[in-house]
Amino acid sequence: MDRKKLLLLALLAALLAAFFVFDLGRYFSLEFFKSQQAAIDAYYQAHPLRTLLIYFLIYVAVTALSLPGAAIMTLAGGALFGLLVGTVVISFASSIGATLAFLVSRFLLRDWVQARFGEKLKAINEGVAREGGFYLFTLRLVPVFPFFVINLVMGLTSMSPGRFYWVSQLGMLAGTVVYVNAGTQIARIESAAGILSPGLLISFALLGLFPLAAKKTIDAAKARRALARWPRPAKFDRNLVVIGAGSAGLVTAYIAAAVKAKVTMVERHRMGGDCLNTGCVPSKALIRSAKLLSHIRRAAEFGIARASADFDFAEVMERVQRVVKTIEPHDSVERYTGLGVEVLQGEARIASPYRVDVKLADGTTRSLTTRAIVIAAGARPFVPPIPGIEQVGCRTSDDIWDLRELPKRLLVLGGGPIGCELAQCFARFGSQVTQVEMLPRLMIREDPEVSELVVKRFRAEGIEVLLEHKALRFEVEDGERLLIAEHRRREVRIAFDVLLCAVGRVANTSGYGLEELGIPTTPARTVQTDDTLQTVYPNIYACGDVAGPYQFTHTAAHQAWYAAVNALFGTFRRFKADYSVIPWSTFTEPEAARVGLNEQEARERNIPHEVTVYGIDDLDRAIADGEAHGFVKVLTVPGKDRILGVTIVGSHAGDLIAEYVLAMKHGIGLNRILGTIHIYPTLAEANKYAAGMWKKAHAPQRLLAWVERYHTWRRG
Ligand SMILES: Cc1cc2nc3c(=O)[nH]c(=O)nc-3n(C[C@H](O)[C@H](O)[C@H](O)COP(=O)(O)OP(=O)(O)OC[C@H]3O[C@@H](n4cnc5c(N)ncnc54)[C@H](O)[C@@H]3O)c2cc1C
Repeated sequence: MDRKKLLLLALLAALLAAFFVFDLGRYFSLEFFKSQQAAIDAYYQAHPLRTLLIYFLIYVAVTALSLPGAAIMTLAGGALFGLLVGTVVISFASSIGATLAFLVSRFLLRDWVQARFGEKLKAINEGVAREGGFYLFTLRLVPVFPFFVINLVMGLTSMSPGRFYWVSQLGMLAGTVVYVNAGTQIARIESAAGILSPGLLISFALLGLFPLAAKKTIDAAKARRALARWPRPAKFDRNLVVIGAGSAGLVTAYIAAAVKAKVTMVERHRMGGDCLNTGCVPSKALIRSAKLLSHIRRAAEFGIARASADFDFAEVMERVQRVVKTIEPHDSVERYTGLGVEVLQGEARIASPYRVDVKLADGTTRSLTTRAIVIAAGARPFVPPIPGIEQVGCRTSDDIWDLRELPKRLLVLGGGPIGCELAQCFARFGSQVTQVEMLPRLMIREDPEVSELVVKRFRAEGIEVLLEHKALRFEVEDGERLLIAEHRRREVRIAFDVLLCAVGRVANTSGYGLEELGIPTTPARTVQTDDTLQTVYPNIYACGDVAGPYQFTHTAAHQAWYAAVNALFGTFRRFKADYSVIPWSTFTEPEAARVGLNEQEARERNIPHEVTVYGIDDLDRAIADGEAHGFVKVLTVPGKDRILGVTIVGSHAGDLIAEYVLAMKHGIGLNRILGTIHIYPTLAEANKYAAGMWKKAHAPQRLLAWVERYHTWRRG
């Protein structure tokens, strides 16, 4: 660091040290000001200009040095100089002080920060060059961060000091007026009754309301900016257009129709989306058949000497389709039309924030004008660009349902929920299944013992689970398909007949107008939304898999409520999507369900917690059912019965967890679960026993020792 910088740093450090060592902060309190108000007032009357100058300099110093006290000084300024003079003096003093702090930060730190983080700051600097003035204005108007932080951080960016000065002065002006006005009222407090004077009450109400009003103003300005370049129709054909008729789109349209909005839902493929056609429904139907086979194989365990199953895989897959067909009417065009939703079958494209063009099956295009749009375009399986993958062919959860011949050797790429559910199914039907996962565990989001139980069962059922195997390339050798994977720096060759790729799903974000409208995506490649599911356009929302962060049918439906209500009634109030209690389940055997935190997340996020584990191997009903395996693990706040999260592994875990989901949602603790009657003998008793174990570990030992003495005494 050069001499000038060192000198300035030493000077600043000395001034700051003096402020705190001599406790100068006590002069920046309302009590001190009130005690000296008469004297300062008298001085001001005698020497108005001198007083103003001294006040001005102190104000500039306080803001330039980022010392606490500017708010009190503003109130005092209002009390001493009145609304007009106070506002003018403070407006200039605060802007000059802020700019000095900005310059100090720039002089001392900018080069160092740019040298170290230049690459990372590039995007920020570009953003500042483009929109910096607007963002600074927003931050000044709605002080989400303390002003001194804004001054220092802006100094590190590429914004020019001149721009910083005038945007700050303009942005802070409204807030300054509100504070100075409140100060003028403080000056009038002479007695306890004065505190309740209407003028003072109104001033403080303004202080409270100002941030809200400022936020509304900013939101309106942002909305205008986003929409400015699009021609707005004089009239709209409909209130809402929903793109996609999967779980998210269907619920959105349902809610819109229920509240009497004119809504059109557009679907380019099949009504019901992934869940009905290629996701939850077919997978659960397949799991049911596979489970039946596994039970038949286990017949001897249940005292039945011989039981065998003769089945045709094609017929199993036909049953899956029959299940889909049976559920199909729930999501059909007829049902939704009956509910009051206009359903169009075609490809939607957002032409403007007010217009959606739909290319219909007959090749014609219909243009729909709309006040709001909800994007519910879902996701699709991700096929990794592994060399040779096209040569060997790859099935995904989209088309695995077309198989009618059981693969002899199935290679499942991916150890997440979809890969695990399907790997177990195909193994149970008789495929030789190899499951390859790059990470050290299956179902990596769950706690290690969950993965252990699943892997143990998979291996016992004949699935070859290869962990820490990274797929390098595919090859065909003498007509045989091969995966070449890397394991501990060695190449491993895995032969297979059919490849199922289950390595994740990517949101559908291209080809229907998002790029043209400049709607950004997140690093996870989902549509970027705020907490209310609003995109950068105030009338375009997104929900379901396309928005993330979860990829479940129930979260899609949950988000859909927020998207529909905010899109239709957001002018009055917008609701933030509540993700506090999100449950899910993987329907393998053993089933693994979770709500809230697990241990690995609690540790990663440094959240203090206690763990209680109840082993289901001890549960009467589980023993009777031949399903005595798994556990209920509850995380609680240390010393309290408040539930932070629950993981259940075992038979019907996805159903059992519902009790804990309800408990967490409504703040019910373990004591109350323990005090609730559970039917004997059921698997649900496991929930109560887990609560009982927690209670036992928190028994009041000292009190019990006294109670024991009491009983001894009673026995004589
Ligand atoms: C094998 C598998 C098993 C699963 N199991 C479960 C489970 O057990 N439990 C669970 O909760 N979740 C499960 N899921 C996840 C669940 O299926 C999804 O989270 C859910 O379907 C997401 O719904 P969505 O409405 O967001 O998207 P989707 O269901 O994908 O619907 C989006 C719709 O938008 C349409 N669309 C897209 N672009 C356009 C356009 N431009 N114009 C018109 N239409 C368009 C698409 O055709 C599609 O129909 C599973 C998924 C898979 C693949």
